[in-house]
Amino acid sequence: MPTPRITRYPDGITAVDTEYVRPGHAAAHIIEQGGRAAFVDTGTNYSVPYLLAALDELGMTPTAVDYVLLTHVHLDHAGGAGKLMRALPNALAVIHPRGAPHMVDPAKLVKASIAVYGDDNYRSLYGELVPIPAERVMTTQDRQRLDFAGRELEFVHTPGHAMHHHAIVDLAYGNIFTGDTFGMSYRECDTAKGAFIVPTTTPTQFDPEQLIASVRRLAAYRPQALYLMHFARVTDVPRLADSMEFQIHEFVRIARKHGEAPAIRAEMRALWFDLLKRHGCTLSEPQLDQLFGGDLDLNTAGLIAWLARAKEKSLAS
Ligand SMILES: [Zn+2]
Repeated sequence: MPTPRITRYPDGITAVDTEYVRPGHAAAHIIEQGGRAAFVDTGTNYSVPYLLAALDELGMTPTAVDYVLLTHVHLDHAGGAGKLMRALPNALAVIHPRGAPHMVDPAKLVKASIAVYGDDNYRSLYGELVPIPAERVMTTQDRQRLDFAGRELEFVHTPGHAMHHHAIVDLAYGNIFTGDTFGMSYRECDTAKGAFIVPTTTPTQFDPEQLIASVRRLAAYRPQALYLMHFARVTDVPRLADSMEFQIHEFVRIARKHGEAPAIRAEMRALWFDLLKRHGCTLSEPQLDQLFGGDLDLNTAGLIAWLARAKEKSLAS
């Protein structure tokens, strides 16, 4: 078994680094409750050995896992779900109804992901997807509740980052597992002011109005902590919600102003570096490029795709 990088948080929550792209980039979470376990997101096929090792380190067996809760079916979150489910005989996968068919039959998802990442990149990042048998999948309705060993979880449909996204509210403890709805927070950028957050507009379903509505909806639960896939626990939610909203408005302005990729990327980079400086981050520009370069590329591609969709819509009406 490999050695997992785990971080233990309050309320029986553990983050497991999925070793995707680099350490500190993506975390799946394990929730422990009354001797049972649930995974929130899985990372990729290559993450699965780390997840099973983390479970072992917590002193739990694969048979103790009741649920694999997928926030959405982007492959950095759910690419390993089929493979993980094979190792967990008692687990049910809980998925947004728009995402579930793609986990049962991944062909379309693979094609769409290759379009975003390119063929070679796709193989090295994700490998061969394992389908999840339909009878092991449960889909959610908005605000549906799930009793996990006596711990009530509420699923909130949160479009904006992706149409197939739900967030998971841990009602009794005031935590929310936000997937990508509440952006990303690399801990290298933590300062005395707290965490630094950026929205993710990955292709192809970014919708600024929906994303702002979803951020507001989650903030309205007044959670004490959010657990992000990128990267784990953040607090001070009202400040982060304001920053998300501000940046989404800025992205829209930047995308409309330039309409083409290099200029959008350059101005988003300038925006982030300026915000980081004001946040008190002392990392150098080359270090920040290393941290945020991939996200600048993906966010730019997502904004271009959004502009193209908006144009199509206006031509059709
Ligand atoms: Zn995503």
